[in-house]
Amino acid sequence: MTAAASTELEALHRVFGYDAFRGDQADIIRHVIDGGDALVLMPTGGGKSLCYQIPALVREGTGVVISPLIALMQDQVDALAALGVRAAFLNSTQGPEERARVECAYLAGELDLLYLAPERITVASTADLLDRGRIALFAIDEAHCVSQWGHDFRPDYLALSMLHERWPTVPRVALTATATEQTHLEIQKRLQLENARHFVASFDRPNIQYRIVPKDQPQKQLLELLRTEHAGDAGIVYCLSRASVEKTAEFLVEQGILALPYHAGLDARVRAANQARFLREDGMVMVATIAFGMGIDKPDVRFVAHLDLPKSVEGYYQETGRAGRDGMPSTAWLAYGLQDVMQQRRMIDQSEGDLAHRRRLSAHLDAMLALCETVQCRRMQLLAYFGEKSSPCGNCDTCLNPPESWDGTIPAQKLLSTVVRLQRERNQKFGAGHIIDILLGRQTSRVDQYGHDDLSTFGIGTELSETEWRGVVRQLLAQGLLAVNSDGFGTLVLTDASAGVLDNSRTVNLRREPERTTRATRKARS
Ligand code: ADP
Ligand code: ZN
Repeated sequence: MTAAASTELEALHRVFGYDAFRGDQADIIRHVIDGGDALVLMPTGGGKSLCYQIPALVREGTGVVISPLIALMQDQVDALAALGVRAAFLNSTQGPEERARVECAYLAGELDLLYLAPERITVASTADLLDRGRIALFAIDEAHCVSQWGHDFRPDYLALSMLHERWPTVPRVALTATATEQTHLEIQKRLQLENARHFVASFDRPNIQYRIVPKDQPQKQLLELLRTEHAGDAGIVYCLSRASVEKTAEFLVEQGILALPYHAGLDARVRAANQARFLREDGMVMVATIAFGMGIDKPDVRFVAHLDLPKSVEGYYQETGRAGRDGMPSTAWLAYGLQDVMQQRRMIDQSEGDLAHRRRLSAHLDAMLALCETVQCRRMQLLAYFGEKSSPCGNCDTCLNPPESWDGTIPAQKLLSTVVRLQRERNQKFGAGHIIDILLGRQTSRVDQYGHDDLSTFGIGTELSETEWRGVVRQLLAQGLLAVNSDGFGTLVLTDASAGVLDNSRTVNLRREPERTTRATRKARS
């Protein structure tokens, strides 16, 4: 059977078995069938695939799909084959025979869709091959990978500007689920889509409840979330390091939860097996690094939990977006603490690349911190980041439990002047722990060793608890009023903006640390 279709609606019904198009799908598909270029910004689960699959079926020739997701090509092709769509792929995992078979099928006009890894298209032999057959369209999936500003840059994508130069009459559709204004413009420019029509769907995912809590005992906090709100649910837990993936997965298994690890250090077969179990079995919890998830289509992921701070808002949005593709209520939960800020600053300082690159990483982190520390609706702030205006959602932690803010100018001054004194009077730098000990007037061995009980700020901060002080440090770091020194030891130093606090020319607004927000939030959900 062949799936070639005469109209887009026929293809939707007969091949995919759906009743109606969603959102902008009908307009996008018509535009591409008519030969126009399109840039499609649509959140995860929005239905981007049909936007090129159906035009590929309706137009004459083969739709060529550029995708970085080599590991998923087989699955995608199998899923299409099950619908009667003639699809194949060419990538580095294939042997010469299989490749030859796919090439023959393409040349014989027997393919509706051909998936290609981006590095293949720039190889002269591939381009020649494409020339000898008939190209219905080019689809550039995960188009944000072309952006150097974005969080997921793939150098191979830069070469895709050649598509337009070499095949100026073939329509191109670029698609992504994550794009700030800046990334959006960069995609347009780098892929030469100046004449493309832009289709920008709302990035709101109303069924996802966003929650960001102070990190205290992360594994326990996670366990409480799973037990009280997501017992038996499928979900993803993201950790920064492979080691913490392993530890967290083990911990959950010990607690009787069906959890599996996933990270790039695992054997490819183990990884594939774990991914397959997560997709097929009910109620599996995948504990993973961000190596997991792109292109994973599991509709009933009920929660995405982050045990470490994501590096950017785009990353956070994309990872949390894997929850609730089926539209049912889902949770995006993130625990973050002072240690996260320190660690990420250190990673940025030590990262390879030029100053501009480090600045970019810093700007990404700052935006993520601003989202964590906001006293306003999380969703509003998230959408504003993607250039979308909205009003308070009523379904995030800050809407359900409006955090109090308080005037933290005096504690900030106490803390900053301790840092100043250590630096100016003694030419010393210390990390947050020791500075807090000084403020609390603790006679630790280090305080004795350095004679820090002689400092005029020793013991002047007893109005706050240690946890509260850590919150102050974290928020000052987030607001750029304090910085982590680039010596790799996590010592604290002032910034240019600190002076304004010390000389009383600016006040410092801080978010009151909620003790535990989960209970009240839970009530509001049910
Ligand atoms: P995206 O690539 O934007 O994340 P997909 O293309 O994977 O989204 O689509 C998400 C889910 O929605 C898929 O299961 C898909 O089959 C389904 N879907 C897409 N369009 C429609 C439609 N018009 N009607 C019903 N289901 C749809
Ligand atoms: Zn809200």
